Amino acid sequence: MSKTINELQRLMVDQLKRRGFYPKDETEVLLRIGEEVGEVFEAVREKQSKDDLNHEVVDVFWNLLRLCELKGIDLEKAFIEKLMINEKRPLPKPVTDISENS
Ligand SMILES: [Mg+2]
Repeated sequence: MSKTINELQRLMVDQLKRRGFYPKDETEVLLRIGEEVGEVFEAVREKQSKDDLNHEVVDVFWNLLRLCELKGIDLEKAFIEKLMINEKRPLPKPVTDISENS
């Protein structure tokens, strides 16, 4: 059941509207992003289960999508644009062995 980012965003908006939690306050969404990032840190630090970590990472992404929805950001389009911008940035030295980056 693979979905695009835009499809995930539409599913999220649909669920939030059906359940009465559609966000209208960007400050609230930003605070939730911070809170959920903290929960990811906690899941890693406490070596919580893979499922728990997965769900905390989704909570961050979920709230990021909420912010994108509020601010009218097409995350898929913006992601590709930023990928291309990064690709055009000059490198301090040519990369000859990709394992140097790990
Ligand atoms: Mg959470």
